Amino acid sequence: MSNPLKRPRTEGSAIQEDLKKDLVKDKEAWFYDGNIDIVAEGIAFRVHRSVLSLHSDLFRDMLSIPQAQDAGTSSDVPAVDVTDSADDMRHLLLTLYHNNKHFKPDKKVDFEVVNTLVHIAHKYQVQNVLDEAMSRIKALFPGTMHALIKVLDEYPAGHTMKYEDTKTNSLRVIEIARLVGDTSLLRPAYYRLCQHVRRGGPEVDESLKDSDPLSAAFDEVTRRAVAGAPHLRLATLEVREEAFMTSTAEECFQDDCLEVLSSMNACMVDEQSLLCDAFDCVDMEGWSDTLCGRCVSLVQGRENDAQERVWEQLPTFFNFKED
Ligand SMILES: [Zn+2]
Repeated sequence: MSNPLKRPRTEGSAIQEDLKKDLVKDKEAWFYDGNIDIVAEGIAFRVHRSVLSLHSDLFRDMLSIPQAQDAGTSSDVPAVDVTDSADDMRHLLLTLYHNNKHFKPDKKVDFEVVNTLVHIAHKYQVQNVLDEAMSRIKALFPGTMHALIKVLDEYPAGHTMKYEDTKTNSLRVIEIARLVGDTSLLRPAYYRLCQHVRRGGPEVDESLKDSDPLSAAFDEVTRRAVAGAPHLRLATLEVREEAFMTSTAEECFQDDCLEVLSSMNACMVDEQSLLCDAFDCVDMEGWSDTLCGRCVSLVQGRENDAQERVWEQLPTFFNFKED
């Protein structure tokens, strides 16, 4: 009688083949002469240990561990299972291999891709990919007030990231700051987030909340933004009041400047009282007809000084630390 546990060799091979068939070769990140398969969500990425090790010590250590062979797409190539999504892993590998079409230095990419790369490059300690992704984010979330004012005034020409200014994306940037420990993102990100909180903009989309383990952190951040909004609103009002304070430049050469400033002050207080946009500078372009040049400069200088104070207060308003 034959032992049912001892299958004939041919049958075992067939089962082995079936296991292999379950894995799908990735269409893009699969290099025929690679020597290891990274398997994410049943998709095999055949890559080279040496290439990945060059970019990351973590990859080097991870891939140097002998692995079971039965998960691979070929019995002579070991496989490593990872818990990342196949899309995330594909982005990272293609970026490592040839600055792929999704992430060339001069190519505009969606924030979602950049966000993915930050997370996975941080996880696998691929510093060059992380640095490049972070530089794209920091161009829109700069660590100085004047750079932020410039970006808010005009989306930087030639910037290589498509960014939709939404509440969810502001939350994601704050999460990135926490993840990579770059607190320079916090002031601009909380400022941007606060604009959505004030506008009552769309909440974090529900699908994201369901699937994203970060949602609790998002809720906490949103609470801080809501709590900070009244402070920023008041500070914004003070910026406008101070800019249009009813006193003219010492060298003012126009009689009605004082009256114009007075009416502007009243107008600003009325119109701006619900806004938190302290770093949206008042457009002085059209003012040369009504105010003298010296007074225009004075208004801009006073606005800048008041904005500097708001910038310094942002961590207090939103209760975050920059250590
Ligand atoms: Zn004047």
